[in-house]
Amino acid sequence: MKIALLCRNAGLYSHKRIIEAAEKRGHDIDVIDHLRCYIDIAPHNPEIHYNGATLTGYDAVIPRIGASVTFFGTAVLRQFEVMGVYPLNESVAIARSRDKLRSMQLLSRQDVGLPVTVFAHRTSNAEELLEIAGGAPVVIKLLEGTQGIGVVLGETPKAAESIIQAFGGVNTNILVQQFVKEANGEDIRCLVVGDKVVAAMMRKGKEGDFRSNLHRGGSAESIKITPKERATALQAAKAMGLNVCGVDMLRSNAGPVVMEVNSSPGLEGVEKATGIDVAGKIIEFVEKNAKPGKTGTKSGITRKRKSAS
Ligand code: ADP
Ligand code: MG
Repeated sequence: MKIALLCRNAGLYSHKRIIEAAEKRGHDIDVIDHLRCYIDIAPHNPEIHYNGATLTGYDAVIPRIGASVTFFGTAVLRQFEVMGVYPLNESVAIARSRDKLRSMQLLSRQDVGLPVTVFAHRTSNAEELLEIAGGAPVVIKLLEGTQGIGVVLGETPKAAESIIQAFGGVNTNILVQQFVKEANGEDIRCLVVGDKVVAAMMRKGKEGDFRSNLHRGGSAESIKITPKERATALQAAKAMGLNVCGVDMLRSNAGPVVMEVNSSPGLEGVEKATGIDVAGKIIEFVEKNAKPGKTGTKSGITRKRKSAS
């Protein structure tokens, strides 16, 4: 198969592993920096121009689009979709996963366990906001934060109110969430590929931090999840419409609650903690689901120079 890997940095662990896994299984995989693509929206002949050539002949596209470039990245992915190329995750599903509010609304509609969460733009009545969220301690989050940045713990009502007001001062959308104290600074990341949880790890925040993000110095270990956690991860992936994703959940007293669903989960932490070849499972999934030749382009040609017209 001919696979396009949409990413900005081919040297990242996750991307290197996907390339390795694809090549090992006999596929051709090209790294395409989506920010350097030109999208040619022509009726009957949609194209993507890249480095002075047009991209043709791909059977599948694996998107690894960074959160800061979601808009253009998903547009390039959508163009591949318009051209009939099979996307590992669809552009629309990636776009919805990047918005915490939209994601949680979708998850709640499908009855996925969630922490009590209130979204707000106007923060002038911090007291009321806090009350709806069940009172301090609460976690306050920026709507489009990642890697634990923009996630703050408001331990007391006074602290929580000041944080809410501070965010209000910079005119941004926030969410106020019940603090799941019993999670103990630990969360569970389930790697979903298709209809399976192929790997799961428990992440623990560094000493004194309630955030377990590996980017914030947390550590990870392999974990055996409960059937309920497995079912919750699969239900969340399905609700989001993602084939491959990382579902993050907390072990609350009321059972697993999903915090977020990541459409470009990092592979380094989970592969190293579990020893599972997640990249290989992703490529296997692409093999099962992409339909080679669907784009109807000449075989063997990856990039065809466009004839002058
Ligand atoms: P980000 O998108 O920046 O990773 P998250 O919502 O995943 O933001 O929060 C980062 C981390 O903070 C989580 O992995 C978890 O360890 C901790 N955390 C987030 N929300 C809560 C909560 N409601 N209760 C307890 N811990 C939380
Ligand atoms: Mg997170």
